[in-house]
Amino acid sequence: MKIQRIIFSFIAIGILTSCAVTSNRSVLVNKGTLVGIQDINSSDKGPIVLKKIVAADWATERAGLINLKDPKAVAAGLQSGKEPIQIYFYVMDHPKFGRYVVDTGLADVFRKDKKEWPVSGIVASQMNLGELKIHTTIKEWLQKEPKKVEGIFLTHLHLDHIFGTQDFPAGTSVYTGQNEPGDTRFLHLFVQGSTDKILGSDTLLSELNFLGKEGAPIKFLDFFGDQSLYVVSVPGHTEGSIAFLIKSTNGVQLITGDTCHTSWGWLNNVTPGGFTKDLERNKVSLDLLQAVAAKFPKIQIHPGHQSISPSAK
Ligand SMILES: [Zn+2]
Repeated sequence: MKIQRIIFSFIAIGILTSCAVTSNRSVLVNKGTLVGIQDINSSDKGPIVLKKIVAADWATERAGLINLKDPKAVAAGLQSGKEPIQIYFYVMDHPKFGRYVVDTGLADVFRKDKKEWPVSGIVASQMNLGELKIHTTIKEWLQKEPKKVEGIFLTHLHLDHIFGTQDFPAGTSVYTGQNEPGDTRFLHLFVQGSTDKILGSDTLLSELNFLGKEGAPIKFLDFFGDQSLYVVSVPGHTEGSIAFLIKSTNGVQLITGDTCHTSWGWLNNVTPGGFTKDLERNKVSLDLLQAVAAKFPKIQIHPGHQSISPSAK
């Protein structure tokens, strides 16, 4: 009995201590200026040239993407099943500070046989990766667009947002939200190995510090300090999820990350479902993004895995 109890304790400790999303090293970095929602520049345009690139078409379980138990989803008759989605990455060119990328699309290795993919077979089948239809890889894109990438922002560390990381030159700065690398979830027991392999073991993660002078969390980080790019702290989908409010030459744009995966989710203000860690905190963060969007009538919204057609508003 005693031995069984000891063994059980070891297993329990193992589960509790080994389920961070990644074992990569991370450091907390202070960048830009922390501001409140009332301080956000109200202009409709800015200096950043933003490009959205479709890396792949894909499909995954609707119950993960949308909370089907939400009364609005029930009323709309949404059912579980496969939902067509896409994987994106975004390129931001700032005239003074250079090129930054949000999320990473897919690495070139995903053009090869599945056996060579840096994900375990279980993860690949659970994620329905067999249905990926790749449009472009980061390697292919970098060959066409050789301009230096100053930094990569990861909206969060779920695999489908980091799949392309290894195609960027080693040493490129990689930014995440605060506490994202240490995000713990039982599920991570099965994905941590794949996450580490995809990020590359040498990749140091820079966590953006969202704590204000008094130690209270602040929601908006004016990254360049010129009011052109606000990184938004939106915990819930994961511990350190981030979103981006961008003053672009084409107007104000909001990249939500997976705080909202789908067009329907954004237009109805309904959170994701099973893919989210904490639905209540995700809802608070989604409400914050809706409040920001309401300040800009012409804003373009980019949910995590679908695009909203201009006529849908
Ligand atoms: Zn996600």
